[in-house]
Amino acid sequence: MKAKLLKLKRLSREINDLNAAATVLYWDQTTYMPPGGAETRARQIATLRRLAHEKLTHPAIGRLLNALRPYESGLPYDADDASLIRVVRRDYERAVRVPAAFMEELSNHTATLYEIWTKARPANDFAAVEPFLEKTLDLSRQLAGFFPGYEHIIDPLIDFADEGMKASMLRPLFCELHQHLVPMFQAITAQQAADDTCLLQRFPEEQQVAFGLEVIARFGFDFERGRQDKTHHPFTARFSSGDVRITTRVKEDDLGEALFSTMHEAGHALYEQGIRRDLEGTPLARGTSSGMHESQSRLWENLVGRSRGFWRFFYLRLQTAFPQQLASVPFDVFFRAINKVKPSLIRTNADEVTYNLHVIIRFDLELALLEGRLLVRDLPEAWRERYKADLGMMPPDDREGVLQDVHWYSGVIGGEFQGYALGNIMSAQLFEAAVGAHPEIPPELEQGKFGTLHNWLKDEIYQYGCKYTASELIERATGAPLNIEPYIRYLRAKYGELYRL
Ligand code: ZN
Repeated sequence: MKAKLLKLKRLSREINDLNAAATVLYWDQTTYMPPGGAETRARQIATLRRLAHEKLTHPAIGRLLNALRPYESGLPYDADDASLIRVVRRDYERAVRVPAAFMEELSNHTATLYEIWTKARPANDFAAVEPFLEKTLDLSRQLAGFFPGYEHIIDPLIDFADEGMKASMLRPLFCELHQHLVPMFQAITAQQAADDTCLLQRFPEEQQVAFGLEVIARFGFDFERGRQDKTHHPFTARFSSGDVRITTRVKEDDLGEALFSTMHEAGHALYEQGIRRDLEGTPLARGTSSGMHESQSRLWENLVGRSRGFWRFFYLRLQTAFPQQLASVPFDVFFRAINKVKPSLIRTNADEVTYNLHVIIRFDLELALLEGRLLVRDLPEAWRERYKADLGMMPPDDREGVLQDVHWYSGVIGGEFQGYALGNIMSAQLFEAAVGAHPEIPPELEQGKFGTLHNWLKDEIYQYGCKYTASELIERATGAPLNIEPYIRYLRAKYGELYRL
């Protein structure tokens, strides 16, 4: 048994190594690679991913998993070995159910559509993507079909990113959230909008980067085991627990851009850096779900980085870094500016109150498409209707409407958007539990101290990697199942005070 376990560990480490090498190539592609490298690089990454996939789906893994079943069932659920076998089995079963020929067709198709979308979006040309999006919808349904026995066709697609979550759980959760958010948003926008011109002055790049690095160093980002570089669309890449990199982009005419996206990516990175070191090289050494990952980016970006306490400590430092721009801007003006709520058409620029409305619209449209209640050709109109109903504004064209997000044009329809809303909901539930356990956290934030919060998150969430699912972690850490109450309480308290609701 010992030999079989060691063999499974070795094979899964090799799969990890191939995937990590592909991630290094991807990171380089989006940071420093000259444009001439693009074509070959795409092939190099695809080769490594294919080798990893072949290794994962090799019958030898299936045989080892079968042979290890008695050993696994004799161990407690959360023993390292039992968790490793369970996670490899999940990865293996997901991978072998989908025929290689289908995966190839899907990845060729999505690569083609992505290319078309990059031109169709600036040209406001939904007609150019429409037939391809029909095919994506068809392929998305086929992909779900490889996992029979689901309640809802979106469930297998959600399960890839947020294991165990289902449409039947998410629909009521999002519906409840929607019912709270819409009146809150309407009450806020009935008042005079916050003035955010103080953020829209000229802020030299070098000082912006330096300030962001100071903030995340205080959060606990470990520069011995990570670094930050520039890119177009910020992301976090883990090569190993000793090397977790974040990327950022700077706009010299908008202070918020780099500052909050740096905190956001640092949140993702703190999660990856916090995974127990002895899990390194095993498939357990990764964040457990897309929702849980996003909960950490949003917790550090919003619950910490847009809080009054945080800025009580940092505002003077920011003013010192940018005296010309900010010396005469009072604290409250700045604080309202970074928490401005306004209806907008673009999800990625949305504030905390409206962000989830953007996500819920996409989730509902995905359900309608997958169920066949909505045709692809009617999607732009359905999009406009929902924006009018939920946010009170209609996109003037598809650039600011249905063509805005990369997701449907670079992958399948279904399974990605829910993670953004889940992340917000979880972020508040976790933060509330952390403060409940350690009432000293809020006063510490005002002194620029983040150690107690960071340690609580490491102990309750980060260290485990993907040993537990997100739902299991939430229950263990907060003593309650996932629910929206802490998130609503958080928004009410913060925006109630800002806007006297
Ligand atoms: Zn994120």
